[in-house]
Amino acid sequence: RPSYECEHTELKCIGRGNFGSAFLVKRKSDGEKYVAKKIALGKLPEKEQQSALMEVELLKHLDHPNIVDYYGSYIEEGVLIIIMEYCDVGDLSYHINKKKKAGENFTEDEILNWFVQISMALEYIHGRKVLHRDIKASNIFLTGNNTVKLGDFGISRVLENTSDAAQTCVGTPYYLSPEVCKNNPYTYKSDVWALGCVLYELCCLEHAFSADNLLGLAYKIVQETHSPIPDRYSEDLQKIVEMLLVKDSNERPLVSQLLMTPFITEKMKEFI
Ligand code: ADP
Ligand code: MG
Repeated sequence: RPSYECEHTELKCIGRGNFGSAFLVKRKSDGEKYVAKKIALGKLPEKEQQSALMEVELLKHLDHPNIVDYYGSYIEEGVLIIIMEYCDVGDLSYHINKKKKAGENFTEDEILNWFVQISMALEYIHGRKVLHRDIKASNIFLTGNNTVKLGDFGISRVLENTSDAAQTCVGTPYYLSPEVCKNNPYTYKSDVWALGCVLYELCCLEHAFSADNLLGLAYKIVQETHSPIPDRYSEDLQKIVEMLLVKDSNERPLVSQLLMTPFITEKMKEFI
């Protein structure tokens, strides 16, 4: 048996998301802490359970400083268990809420530093033909040295047909892109839209689009213009937000194009 598969003590449940629950676990051999994501595959036929496992196993081979490390996955009694790096400084949604409560804002440098890191992670996975499909503030983690890491990529495709997906649709899908609202396929550009939503949230400390029901939300995403970001931020930053939150996906850049815009290229040199 691979070492990640055995001898873990469950410390606590750290949260429940759209797809299953996350647990903090401790490896008995050396006390190292990990996160175990548990997803009930329930009624999926055996063959599809195995292909879900294969799909997730592929993610192990992705290796980037701004991506949460995957260590392995296995199925135990119809539950898919994914062992990954534990990020102990909290996710961006936690930090955004904290700032908001304190009545403060992130500085432009903080925002751009994180944004550039997330964009590079996204370029890396897109370059390997992997869609993230669930980019949002709670899937981006802060770690030491102001490093941010993108987590939970690629999982949602595996999970679309699991029993968990339907049952635990807990969150409001604030990051849905206009094309997906209109029932068009999810593409790389849809990840870019979600990236834009995260950037917007870092600037405004609130969602670019929000409503208390799905229909209202989808309407706003497709039809309405978001409020502008505060003018304490530079015009260049405002332009990046506008560029990402373009409704027509054909007009929206790929991440690789985003990283080639002079303003972002400059920032990459400055931060990395
Ligand atoms: P969601 O992403 O929909 O909020 P998750 O099941 O992915 O739901 O996560 C639930 C909670 O667990 C979130 O608060 C998230 O911050 C936390 N979490 C998930 N993965 C990790 C991780 N690798 N390290 C630390 N915390 C994590
Ligand atoms: Mg998550």
